[in-house]
Amino acid sequence: MSRFMDSFTQTLPQVRVRFGAGIRHELGAEIEALGARRALILSTPPQADLAQELSDLIGGLSAGAYAGARMHTPVDVSEQATAHARDIGADCVVAVGGGSTTGLGKAIAWRTDLPQIVVPTTYAGSEATPILGQTEGGRKTTLSDRRVQPEVILYDPELVATLPAAMTVTSALNAMAHAAEGLYARDRGPLTTMMALEGLTAFRDALPAVVRDPADLRARGETLYGAWLCGTVLGTVGMALHHKLCHTLGGSFDLPHAETHAIVLPHAIAYNDRAVPDQLAPLSELFGGPSPGAALHRFAAGLGAPTALRELGLKESDLDRAVEIATQNPYWNPRPLEPAALRALLQRAWEGAEPEA
Ligand code: NAD
Repeated sequence: MSRFMDSFTQTLPQVRVRFGAGIRHELGAEIEALGARRALILSTPPQADLAQELSDLIGGLSAGAYAGARMHTPVDVSEQATAHARDIGADCVVAVGGGSTTGLGKAIAWRTDLPQIVVPTTYAGSEATPILGQTEGGRKTTLSDRRVQPEVILYDPELVATLPAAMTVTSALNAMAHAAEGLYARDRGPLTTMMALEGLTAFRDALPAVVRDPADLRARGETLYGAWLCGTVLGTVGMALHHKLCHTLGGSFDLPHAETHAIVLPHAIAYNDRAVPDQLAPLSELFGGPSPGAALHRFAAGLGAPTALRELGLKESDLDRAVEIATQNPYWNPRPLEPAALRALLQRAWEGAEPEA
């Protein structure tokens, strides 16, 4: 059945995307195609060797490696890195890493309008969005801007092959959350629904293979394909309750990003299933379960994902405040935010129980 909708509005990003094992070797050609000659290569400190490898690979097109990216894109780090990019006369930034490194590249591009190339090494999906989240004085703010959208993405499965198994699974569930919430987004369209379902299918098929053999490059490539599609959904439509809960738990209780997404997703989906069962029904079919929430929970648990917020160090006594914060300035959601039902949702997620039927 076609996914045609009677009425929709969709603005899709213009991005050049290349896939393939070893595609990072095309980095120099991509820099030249942008008309650039001095690329600043960004990474986190643990991935400094990889940034240096890319810098060596492009030889004279490199303006050096800068391994200063940090979690949550702190504004002071972004300002230092932007000053460095200006000082050395960089005319393009290359981010090699996960969402934290991509975030630093976006923060520089937002301040300078330099073109960006991203070489992702996780499944977070930030490379496919015009969204920049930044932190300053303990507060996280998010903006969406044309300058922030990366121009080129190079998906090289060899670079995710090093992602440890636990992070592989949580990072994939983080990506899948973008697609799952895209299924009921108010501003969804036929293409975002197609991308969401195709992205979820790619993870369903390839993730178990990657967990069995982390060096399986074909399966790694398919998971990156899923990350691209899920990230594009995130960049194209609005997110709802699940992302709000994760931002609350990450921002106010300092819980780790991907793990929090992995635990909360089945519960947020079960909550919204009451309001939009038709839109979520494909999840039960794809993952095989009596309901979309249970199907996702079993898929995640079967791959060894964490299932309880208490395992991440959240205290049971924090749950009331989490509900309070999550219901302030709420995102649009298909089911009204009912504090008592949300408190019950968080209790189950805290304990690691199956989502509400
Ligand atoms: P991350 O980028 O913080 O990486 C976590 C750690 O894993 C880092 O130390 C990193 O160096 C290491 N790492 C990354 N890839 C590796 C690999 N292949 N092998 C070994 N180690 C590796 O984690 P993340 O989950 O990718 O990104 C999370 C951040 O991205 C959050 O701040 C989140 O808010 C942001 N994000 C933003 C968007 C957006 O659209 N703006 C989308 C998704 C996520």
